[in-house]
Amino acid sequence: MNKKHIVILGAGYGGMMTAAKLQKTLHTNEAVITLINKNDYHYQTTWLHENAAGTLHHDRTKIKIKDVIDSNKVNIVLDEVICIKPEEKKVKLANGVMNYDFLVIGLGFEPATFGIPGLSEHAFTIGNINNARLIREQLDFNFASYHNELEKNDARLNIVVGGGGFTGIEFAGELANRIPHLCEEYDIEKTQVRIIIIEGAPTVLPGFDERLVSYAINSLESRGVEFINGALLKECNQDYIVYEKDGKRTELPTMTTIWAAGVRANSVVERSGFETNRGKVEVRNDLRTPDFEDVFVIGDCALIKNEATGKAFPPTAQIAIQQAETVAHNVRAKVRRNELKSFCPNLQGTIASLGNDDAIAEVFGRNLFGWKAAFMKKMSDNRYLLKLGGIGLLMKKGKFNFFY
Ligand SMILES: Cc1cc2nc3c(=O)[nH]c(=O)nc-3n(C[C@H](O)[C@H](O)[C@H](O)COP(=O)(O)OP(=O)(O)OC[C@H]3O[C@@H](n4cnc5c(N)ncnc54)[C@H](O)[C@@H]3O)c2cc1C
Repeated sequence: MNKKHIVILGAGYGGMMTAAKLQKTLHTNEAVITLINKNDYHYQTTWLHENAAGTLHHDRTKIKIKDVIDSNKVNIVLDEVICIKPEEKKVKLANGVMNYDFLVIGLGFEPATFGIPGLSEHAFTIGNINNARLIREQLDFNFASYHNELEKNDARLNIVVGGGGFTGIEFAGELANRIPHLCEEYDIEKTQVRIIIIEGAPTVLPGFDERLVSYAINSLESRGVEFINGALLKECNQDYIVYEKDGKRTELPTMTTIWAAGVRANSVVERSGFETNRGKVEVRNDLRTPDFEDVFVIGDCALIKNEATGKAFPPTAQIAIQQAETVAHNVRAKVRRNELKSFCPNLQGTIASLGNDDAIAEVFGRNLFGWKAAFMKKMSDNRYLLKLGGIGLLMKKGKFNFFY
């Protein structure tokens, strides 16, 4: 029998879960499965803000692909995807070319800097393990440098977060918890350090219930975070930024700007000539591209609309994981020439962390905040680990620090 070749691009939430499902449900006689990823590890993107702030070591966030994926069942190829040639059913890699019969694209997101001058050169982003490690090092370096300079430089202790959405707030929450430790380590007064969130909208955390937003703001302010809302970041330089509020431009000295105000789909998708809507492929109900019968797109590279509101679902790990289940079913159906099924998102709520023991949540139609929401967040993280790699992975990487 001529075995079909299934190629999965990206070992993120969507790609890993697709590979994990397929290795369990497709026999090696039926198809060859290949998973292509830049690194030999999967990382939990939703924990990167903790690695960046330095409250969680990045080794906790990394999961070796081979600890979850059985290399007797799935070929693991470590390479970088350069582009896809869907007409020829080929993927161009940095080190070769891969042919496929069925393709799953799960390459995730990239930062979007909207052409703001200096942002791509001078700001930091929280997009992968390497970015997160660099931010942690930058914080340490600036704190360590402070007392080594004759002329004290406030730019070293001012940390600007661009964007008060989910990522910006989660990062600020972790950072607010880390600052007292940094101050103690480097003999710096806590009052000298500023964490400033610059948000374009009149308030932060769009989409959350306003009572939860107030709770989050109070929680962060009580730990020293400042909010400048209704302000646009206009320019980013090595040691200052410029923002505009009410028509007035202000310079703020800082050597650490974290840009958390925009992501877009991985540019490989657009570069490969797929029809895109703001960089994403607006997929069919069964998660295939509109133009190609054998190409599926999941996670942050895919755009699906909520039929009730007509708006696109926000890019989340929750949706990427659910899509992986549908795509694994549909790829299997393709191999076995069965019917494909439609993707139906089952949104269980949203939880934004405000630090280790604080969070806000809208789950099962209820608002939660404080330790209860933080508990829910850790349970949800643990559930993912259990689903991906069973009890072994959960025990190795899970979060069990519920009450401290
Ligand atoms: C700080 C932060 C906090 C977040 N918190 C939450 C949350 O609490 N809840 C939630 O639901 N969502 C959250 N999100 C969003 C969520 O992380 C993303 O929606 C999710 O990671 C998308 O999954 P994915 O499978 O599409 O891609 P990803 O998980 O991003 O994985 C993409 C994979 O592709 C690989 N890759 C990329 N380019 C290439 C290439 N050219 N060649 C080879 N490999 C490549 C990457 O290395 C990576 O392994 C958060 C995001 C951030 C940044």
